[in-house]
Amino acid sequence: MKSSDIRCIENLNNRTDVFDVRWRVTTLCNYQCDFCIQGDRKAHLKQAEGESADIRGQVCGRLIRMLEDLSGYEAVRVSLIGGEVTILDDFPSILERLALCGFPGSMMFDITTNLSRDEEYYFKLCDIVRKKAAGKKRSLTIGASFYSAYETAQRFTEKLRNVFLYSGMPQEGNPVRLTGGVPILEDADRDVLIRMQHDFAATDVRIAPIFIRNYETKTTPQIIADLHEQREMSIRVTDINGGVYTYQNIQALGAELEETDVFCPNGYLCDAGVRNLWIDAFGNVKRCPAIGSTMSLGSILEGNVRLLAGPQACTSDHCSCSQYGRIEKK
Ligand code: SF4
Ligand code: SF4
Repeated sequence: MKSSDIRCIENLNNRTDVFDVRWRVTTLCNYQCDFCIQGDRKAHLKQAEGESADIRGQVCGRLIRMLEDLSGYEAVRVSLIGGEVTILDDFPSILERLALCGFPGSMMFDITTNLSRDEEYYFKLCDIVRKKAAGKKRSLTIGASFYSAYETAQRFTEKLRNVFLYSGMPQEGNPVRLTGGVPILEDADRDVLIRMQHDFAATDVRIAPIFIRNYETKTTPQIIADLHEQREMSIRVTDINGGVYTYQNIQALGAELEETDVFCPNGYLCDAGVRNLWIDAFGNVKRCPAIGSTMSLGSILEGNVRLLAGPQACTSDHCSCSQYGRIEKK
């Protein structure tokens, strides 16, 4: 397919009845993976200059007020992302304040972590939704990724198992869910993945391969091809002739285009910003985190956040996130 043939891209995970908030609580991380989209350690530190527990607390308070005033939605998904949120000692209190807030509908919290803290830290997070917010329709998904440069597979598996045993999974109605991920950077990672999948085969913890886009791995192409069968499709693309195709994500679509061909969303109508907010560590709000997108939706700390009334033209030359429900040619 040529990028000029793309008429519409739909995000299959997007739900029109759920308001979606993604808050990058911190850009700091205790690891320095060289494939990290945030850049190297220096870049993490640069972006994080000025971050503090005080500012996070203020952003959290304003977000709570906004959610309590939100009308028309019975459910909110709140993704709390980094960097690595679990390096913050104040993070459990942020989750607790959000979980105990007065939003009357369901709140689904998503956390991604490198699982570098001891088990007790994650037990605390489980307790917030299982015990402190019991009866308030709150749920928590902890997505843990394994990074072999910083942790042994044995210790990662042990921690994940301990958190699983503590979480109450798979009891009916239990609000905590765990998933695991293994980046596939070299052939040995396939063996680690298979071992972990075997270790958790009798549980509801799904362990999936993570494919790093735009990063040269040492993995044999056949291994990548075999593991690709485990991909979950998250976007549906319709071309100008009515042909329909599915892809794992928008980066995977990009990889299918010819080498010099790039999908440029600039000018396409996109509904990011209508039912969602992207908030950075300082409370600045955008419709999505795309670099080059000038579409600010205000500042949560200044109290001037406004949602879009309907889809508007994208102003970015590149789209890599999943903040949209639908991107469509005008
Ligand atoms: S753990 Fe995640 S956020 Fe931290 S450096 Fe690695 S890829 Fe980046
Ligand atoms: S970059 Fe943002 S505004 Fe543009 S298409 Fe992607 S999600 Fe929509």
